[in-house]
Amino acid sequence: MSRSEADIGLYVHIPFCRHRCHFCAFYLEIAQPDRMAAFHTALTREISLVYRQAFLHGRTLQSIYFGGGTPTALPADQLASLLRLIRATWPTSATAEITVEAHPSFVNQHDLAVLADAGFNRISFGAESMADKDFPAMGRVGQVHDTGIAVHAARRVGFSNINLDLMYGLPGQSLRDWTHTVESLLTLSPSHISCYALTIEEDTRLAQDVARNLTVPPDEQLQLDMEAVTEQFLAEAGFSRYEISNYAKLDYACRHNLLYWSGGEYLGLGPSAQSYLQGSRFGNIADLEAYTACVNDDRLPMTDRTVLSTAERQRDALVFGLRLLRGVPRTSITAAERDRQIDELVAKGLLDADHDRVRLTSFGRRYADTVAEQLF
Ligand code: SF4
Repeated sequence: MSRSEADIGLYVHIPFCRHRCHFCAFYLEIAQPDRMAAFHTALTREISLVYRQAFLHGRTLQSIYFGGGTPTALPADQLASLLRLIRATWPTSATAEITVEAHPSFVNQHDLAVLADAGFNRISFGAESMADKDFPAMGRVGQVHDTGIAVHAARRVGFSNINLDLMYGLPGQSLRDWTHTVESLLTLSPSHISCYALTIEEDTRLAQDVARNLTVPPDEQLQLDMEAVTEQFLAEAGFSRYEISNYAKLDYACRHNLLYWSGGEYLGLGPSAQSYLQGSRFGNIADLEAYTACVNDDRLPMTDRTVLSTAERQRDALVFGLRLLRGVPRTSITAAERDRQIDELVAKGLLDADHDRVRLTSFGRRYADTVAEQLF
């Protein structure tokens, strides 16, 4: 679907989870009813403050994405009321993609029905693995069985656009284990699958465990083999890989994430949420108490704002655009000796190029950021 210049995405960060997974570096708090109720009130205030700023004047929401954290840590009726408030505040396309992330072990069919009824039309479950033995190593609660139950319940209440997130290269996970996970996942017939290579992020329990030799870091070659298996199995099952970590059935590519990768504009609400509007990047305070204090004081909870230069915008367009399998227009490359640089990267097997576009090869996808730097 094409996007008009007036279209914009809205991201809502719900900063709560019941537990923190060992690999997770997102800003979040452990879910507690009183803090979640206070957050709900603060977020409604932020919506009203942002509305007064007229950031979105003349714009239409083409996508709304509730991420986290685990949005469904919040009661379903609170998520529903937030979505209704957003749609009453800003014009929203009749065909807007409206996603909510959910933990499959902590949603029931009633909650899902409330979310579908409120207008959410895409759901993204953090499955992570389809082998129970992987969960303790990730610090992940729940059971694989929960994922199947949640997917079937979501479908029963009307969700047809269902994403499942997986991680590969988990501690102790073999290629055979991963193949089993991909095959099991496919039996659930999702419309979209995201597969992320496990990375070690600073200040996580996983980073501490690796530093203390309690676990080993991911094996890069094994992860590449897992990626190759993923691409093959998902292609055979009718999924197209459209971004480094994302695969979709026809017409199910995530419109909200495509906006990020194709230079579109978006507004973020909630603690730590990022925005890109009118050539500026800005982010909200990544601290629930400070965020709440700010909005209660009638101030935007913004922590920094950077006006991007033309060169910075071009660089971002290249870095993000090359993540997409369709690549970027040749004309968007600004390197002084563009054609020579492209030819060199093609000769090294990192790029494919034709008259109009350049795109990473499967080998080049391993070095996406390095390739982008060389083309800038
Ligand atoms: S459920 Fe998701 S957001 Fe929450 S701690 Fe685990 S990985 Fe992080």
